[in-house]
Amino acid sequence: MSSDEQQPVETICPYCGVGCGIKVQPGEAPEDMRFMPWGDAPVNEGRVCIKGGAATEVVGHEDRLTEPLIREDGEFREATWEEALTRVVDELSRIREEHDPDAMGFFGSSKTMNEENYLLQKLARRYGTNNVDNCTRMCHASTVWALRTSLGAGAMTNSMADLEEAADVLWIQGANPGEQHPIANSQYFRQAVLEGATVIQVDPHANKTTRSFEIEETDRHMHLQLEPGTDIPLLNIVIKTILDRHDENPDEGWIDETFIEERTEGFEDLRETLEGFDKEAAAEECGVPLEDIERAAEKYAMGNNSAIFTGMGMSQHTCGVDNVQNEINLALITGNLGKPGTGVNPLRGQNNVQGTSDVGAMPNVLPGYQLVDDDEARESVEDVWGFEVPDEPGLTNVEISRAAGDTVQGLYIMGENPVMSEPDGNHVEERLDDLEFVVVQDIFLTETADYADVVLPATTWAERGGTVTNTDRRVQRMRPVEKVHENTRHDLDILTEVGTRLFGEDAGFDFDDPEEVFEELREVCPIYHGMTYDTLGTEGIQWPCYEPGDEGDQFLYENSFDTDNGLGQIEGVRHQEPKETPDEEYPLILTTARLEEHYNTGTMSRRSPTLNRQHPENFVDIHPKDAERYGIDDGDEVTVTSRRGEITVEAHVTEDIKEGVIWTTPHFADASANRLTNDVLDERAKIPEYKAAAAEISVDVER
Ligand code: SF4
Repeated sequence: MSSDEQQPVETICPYCGVGCGIKVQPGEAPEDMRFMPWGDAPVNEGRVCIKGGAATEVVGHEDRLTEPLIREDGEFREATWEEALTRVVDELSRIREEHDPDAMGFFGSSKTMNEENYLLQKLARRYGTNNVDNCTRMCHASTVWALRTSLGAGAMTNSMADLEEAADVLWIQGANPGEQHPIANSQYFRQAVLEGATVIQVDPHANKTTRSFEIEETDRHMHLQLEPGTDIPLLNIVIKTILDRHDENPDEGWIDETFIEERTEGFEDLRETLEGFDKEAAAEECGVPLEDIERAAEKYAMGNNSAIFTGMGMSQHTCGVDNVQNEINLALITGNLGKPGTGVNPLRGQNNVQGTSDVGAMPNVLPGYQLVDDDEARESVEDVWGFEVPDEPGLTNVEISRAAGDTVQGLYIMGENPVMSEPDGNHVEERLDDLEFVVVQDIFLTETADYADVVLPATTWAERGGTVTNTDRRVQRMRPVEKVHENTRHDLDILTEVGTRLFGEDAGFDFDDPEEVFEELREVCPIYHGMTYDTLGTEGIQWPCYEPGDEGDQFLYENSFDTDNGLGQIEGVRHQEPKETPDEEYPLILTTARLEEHYNTGTMSRRSPTLNRQHPENFVDIHPKDAERYGIDDGDEVTVTSRRGEITVEAHVTEDIKEGVIWTTPHFADASANRLTNDVLDERAKIPEYKAAAAEISVDVER
């Protein structure tokens, strides 16, 4: 069938985790591929943001990789698939023989599908290592850790739909859905507000979310503009206010005593943690008037249903797990869990970051979040796979990069760009240079592919079939158009080929299509077990779906939590400063975030004319008083430096940011925030502290 005869296909937007359905209509030439609205798509009912509407622009882009590449004498040359795959398999075999299986690291991708990530983590484990991870490490590893440990599942407790229907307070902390989850914001959150909900936004930066809720009835919108890294003290003020008011007036319903009694443990620990807590001193530390925080506390506690949304402003700290634990504490003591319109709800950044973790592309868990060091769980997976899985958690992606050239000698990177996505990018480049072998499987020659020995050209999101899982646990099918470049291959086919060549035809890598892989995934992933491609249909199903016929759950924990004893875990937490604080040499706090028109490392969005036109270059927001002190005018070219590097960008002088704080983005190759960010990690979740680093700024023009 020629491309002009192809019918439009129903698929899922490749960008953020909202999971909007779109249609793709192939044209006569690759560059003619068109977006079409999918009017009755389950999540978005036809609406899309600028990224969704422009998503097809990258499919036929002239920069696409179209042939395998092999590095020879420092330069890439085109190669046949046979040459490239032979080199990959030879090098992987050599590294295992000369070193050991843990000398390889495998990076899955939140931009690829469940089936592909499932097969990549199976490949790593068959190779003999748990050194497999994905970029959830960079965004919500701490959220997943806290939710899994204290409630049971590392995912949104509720759904966008039940929040719209039932929530009367939306507490949005460290997230900017107006910018990063536009359809969640405009369709679900706006609707809740139109129906009377109150929005409390906690963020160091005034942004599109702030502006989207600037409504006349100002008492229904508060923006608590805190200093970066003071989320724990702010939430402790909220919790302390609620506890004190309850003690003064036990009948007013500030806390939910029955819920605490029957469904939680640890309440006394929380009380003890906050004994003698000085709210005034904490408010000063946060840089927010105490009475504003107390008023916000009252709104949250007095709402019938109050829902927390949490983002990377919370998770990307060395205290990321504790940040999210304090949100869980707040929800548990007020009984805001286990019913519609409530919960603790991470807004996931990438189209399949939830699913990539669900299917086990993480060093400590197998599919369905079964711990690798849980003998019973591991053995049940081994029974299906037919080989033994290492019983110790492997390295996370930042740990793999740090070990490059030391204990790690090779990297298999599927659709990731660590040179730009990891903190301290200059060091990441040096370490990649130290590796014996790097293979990159991608659609464009990324900044990371520059360090590869072999590059395998993959097909794009629009050309592949499979499933992805959105931010509210909805597993949805993506349907493909025909390939636009003959000699590219689907990620799944590449992994099938590599696995079969490495381990033999009967080793469990010989799959004909994504559905066959999904059928095996169901066998080892209890939360997906009840799903089939047929039952997913066009609506998708929200996990958990344990048995065929289960319809999935809009909200979790109606009767009990999925912890060992069924109780939600409350645990008091105390303020921990960011690991780097301002000093004489670096007197400013640098914080970072993303733009609506760009997507993470910009591999796709910078090549999309529609998106790139909006923001072709990076910039830094600086407060007018700081700008005056440094002699910076709006639009000046400035150099921002940290202990790790420098970038040159345009200054935006704005009161969106607080005095003493500067704000920039990671999307642009030549001036990414991640040349500056600090690679210190949360001890438990191993997520880097992207959100706070010490920095300095200087103006580059002579006046
Ligand atoms: Fe795509 Fe997210 Fe925009 Fe929806 S909100 S169209 S999923 S980028």
